[in-house]
Amino acid sequence: MISKTALKKILARGITSFRVDVASRKLLWRDRVAVLLYHDPKPDTLDYHLTYLKSFCDVVPLAHVASPGSGRPRAAITLDDGAAGNADLLPVFIKHNVRPTIFLCSQIVGRPTMHWWLHPGAKQAGIERLKRMSNAERLAELGKYGYHQTHEGDGTGLTAGQIEAMRPFVDFQAHTRFHPILTRCNDRECEQEISVCKSELESMLGTECEHFAYPNGNYTDREVGFVKAAGYKSARTCDLGWNDSRSDPYRLKTIVIDDDATLWWFAAQLTGIPVFLRYVRHARNFSGYSPQF
Ligand SMILES: [Zn+2]
Repeated sequence: MISKTALKKILARGITSFRVDVASRKLLWRDRVAVLLYHDPKPDTLDYHLTYLKSFCDVVPLAHVASPGSGRPRAAITLDDGAAGNADLLPVFIKHNVRPTIFLCSQIVGRPTMHWWLHPGAKQAGIERLKRMSNAERLAELGKYGYHQTHEGDGTGLTAGQIEAMRPFVDFQAHTRFHPILTRCNDRECEQEISVCKSELESMLGTECEHFAYPNGNYTDREVGFVKAAGYKSARTCDLGWNDSRSDPYRLKTIVIDDDATLWWFAAQLTGIPVFLRYVRHARNFSGYSPQF
């Protein structure tokens, strides 16, 4: 039986040896914007990813997603969740002159609360199982293991001081209050998570919060409606693809990058092929949920 790591290596070598990565840049990526999605990469990893990326691509802010291209591939760097480790990336952003967008959960950053899936109880209960429950069931189940979303203790998000230090170099935007799976929330929970997050972040940051990212990539027309009604100008999904001026601003597409991707795997992931194969293998629709199975 071949291990997952070995399969990844074979796929990555195949893609780069046959120059599929170069061909996909010409045929698929062109001068559109690849919105790369990270979570909590190590500074060294992000450093060599950005060095490689800049050798053939312009790295642009997320807000430029609908601007006309110049013929070169473009990429925007986004990080979801506001993990505490993101603070260590600041020297890398400055070194590469890259302005990333970090999507924050307004009730998890700036206070000692936890991202729910990082609580030991979430692992015991099964993270993917919890994602499939209704929001109330998930919270009740986590409560059995001692997790309560407003309880303070060990913090897993960026502190207020870290956010303040990063603000001149980072675009902070919205990713709900507590990171529920929005499609498992009732209407009221869903609307509150989307709209209250905006006002809470705006009062924390003192600037307008215009962009949103759907937690875990889960959304339907209902979530899109709430995002529009709350006054956001765009929203990023986890749907595979590239973006240009014709893209739906409330369904921006993404290339998910593994936080620990080797250079070979990073080059392979930029083609979109690994995620595409996961979709095909699991015979699922291509939109509205995260491609992590
Ligand atoms: Zn997230």
